[in-house]
Amino acid sequence: MSDFIKIVNLSKEYVLSEDKILKAVHNVSLNIEKGDIYGIMGLSGAGKSTLIRLINRLEDATSGKIFVNDKDILNFNGVELREYRKKVGMIFQHFNLLSSRTVEGNVAFALEIAGWSAVDKQKRVDELLEIVGLTEKKNIYPSQLSGGQKQRVAIARALANNPSILLSDEATSALDPKTTNSILDLLQDINKKFGITVILITHQMEVIRKICNKTAIMSNGEVIEVGKTKDIFLNPKSKIAKEFVSHIIPDEEIIIETQKEIGKKIIKLYFEGVEADKSYITEIIKKYNLDVNILSGTIDILKDSKVGHLLIEITGDEHNTNESIVWLEENKIKVEVV
Ligand code: ADP
Ligand code: MG
Repeated sequence: MSDFIKIVNLSKEYVLSEDKILKAVHNVSLNIEKGDIYGIMGLSGAGKSTLIRLINRLEDATSGKIFVNDKDILNFNGVELREYRKKVGMIFQHFNLLSSRTVEGNVAFALEIAGWSAVDKQKRVDELLEIVGLTEKKNIYPSQLSGGQKQRVAIARALANNPSILLSDEATSALDPKTTNSILDLLQDINKKFGITVILITHQMEVIRKICNKTAIMSNGEVIEVGKTKDIFLNPKSKIAKEFVSHIIPDEEIIIETQKEIGKKIIKLYFEGVEADKSYITEIIKKYNLDVNILSGTIDILKDSKVGHLLIEITGDEHNTNESIVWLEENKIKVEVV
């Protein structure tokens, strides 16, 4: 199967002064398949936004090629380019809404530019607001919306012309964790329901983990690691990827919610000092004949001690479970049943 988006040796240089050239994107090659939610992760200045501006042709490449459906989009003429841009939706960190237009007006704007008739336009706007869950807010202005709602308007606008590609540049970076999750859920729904390929740029590994099936890691304009997200998390190869993965904060609220729904007993253990090293889990499995599943955990090395916590799920006899909790507490481990 040929790749939907194939980027080949793509580079973008900025001439900063007579003798200074900045390689914002350097020799990047990526293969993105239809239906991927493809994460591009990197620190600030890595070249992510430049790459995305090359993909939607807001910038011209210095060299290299970008094929979309086997067509070299860097060779498009004016008409082809206009058609292509309709097929590429884009969302940003700061939403870029028109403050003088209502929610409905903002979404309609994208259709007006594309020349939709009034009747079709109204129908499509209603559809789009339904998709992003803002039907009730259609007559209010952006200033009256929360950040998450503003991003929903921006998503509706980006989807207006039925794009086949959605580019997201730090779309959740200005949002709190809970709102971030709801926006990521929406992007995932859209990807599934409409088969839209999503390229998602972020500096947050949590975002990658939650919805991206594949990931490329950028540093200094180059892609330094690429693979299935699962493989990068299991076995990060580059120093930067290792660093990103190790700093990830487990999304415990979400884990707890879903596990509780399926009726599991969830316990949080807090360790301090040498206890952090001991294998208490193996111990309670044997001693009390329990099944223990580790859901998440961290160990932090502080200046002069170690602290850690584990979130575990216990399955087994209730009496034994309670006994095991008493035993853990006797061993100076703080236990919280959640
Ligand atoms: P990211 O989105 O990963 O933070 P960018 O793509 O915005 O990174 O920037 C990559 C590098 O290119 C940075 O060093 C940035 O300063 C530089 N850069 C971006 N746009 C321009 C421009 N128009 N002119 C000169 N340098 C630029
Ligand atoms: Mg950027």
